[in-house]
Amino acid sequence: MQKLEQVYEGKAKKVFKTDDPELFIVDYKDDATALNGKKKGTISGKGVINNKMTNILMQKMEKAGIPTHFVKELSDRETLVKKVSIVPLEVIVRNISAGHFASRYGVEEGIVFETPTIEFSYKCDALDDPLLNEYHALALKLATREEIDTIKKYSFGVNDVLKAFWADCGVTLVDFKLEFGKLSDGTIVLADEISPDTCRLWDSKTNEKLDKDRFRRDMGGVEDAYTEVMNRLLAHE
Ligand code: ADP
Ligand code: UDP
Repeated sequence: MQKLEQVYEGKAKKVFKTDDPELFIVDYKDDATALNGKKKGTISGKGVINNKMTNILMQKMEKAGIPTHFVKELSDRETLVKKVSIVPLEVIVRNISAGHFASRYGVEEGIVFETPTIEFSYKCDALDDPLLNEYHALALKLATREEIDTIKKYSFGVNDVLKAFWADCGVTLVDFKLEFGKLSDGTIVLADEISPDTCRLWDSKTNEKLDKDRFRRDMGGVEDAYTEVMNRLLAHE
């Protein structure tokens, strides 16, 4: 597989063409951003952890019947994926109140929900990823009704698998963000990443934060937290 020209450089990853028009290579960086790019930094070793963790978790999703873009891990930081056209929706599933849910609705962090919630943001940096509902997504033609229904079904499926797996590792899955894409035949697959950058993960006993909130909130111990969750994942894989 030949790595050809870069098609995109994002905040956390670079995407490259390959000699197969249906496949891309994703290259994970150590760069970290928060507040939609306004806060910048690096988390040393993050790219290696996020690459490996995403690939292990994507394969668990495949086993559970949720199709993904994963093809093959190529190196510490590089993975071969199916090229998709990204559905411009950030899908957020929450089990416990935190982050924007807590600030938007004026509640404390840590309220355990009876059933998980789902919400969508329009993936658009220039607009700061505004929250929208399904009717807005349909009006803006970001996805069809069928695609939204599939995305919701898969997202709750990811939550079931991920929540149970992290619980085995002594980690509470608070919330997470997913992205989906369309293959050239229109099939919806899970894309992008599943990592401490995109999930809130709390130690089950102490509720200590083991995710990007340590970076967002200048709490220190960021690298140690990423290493800790990765080690727990590897011990329970
Ligand atoms: P951002 O664009 O938010 O800065 P990243 O740095 O993670 O994010 O960049 C990776 C980009 O690649 C994202 O825009 C993501 O939507 C996109 N992407 C993820 N998986 C695929 C895929 N399989 N095919 C095409 N694009 C993808
Ligand atoms: N999230 C993400 N990318 C985003 C926004 C949110 O990965 O652009 C993740 C975030 O890590 C958390 C979940 O989605 O696990 C919910 O985030 P929230 O809406 O509370 O916003 P945040 O406080 O993270 O900005």
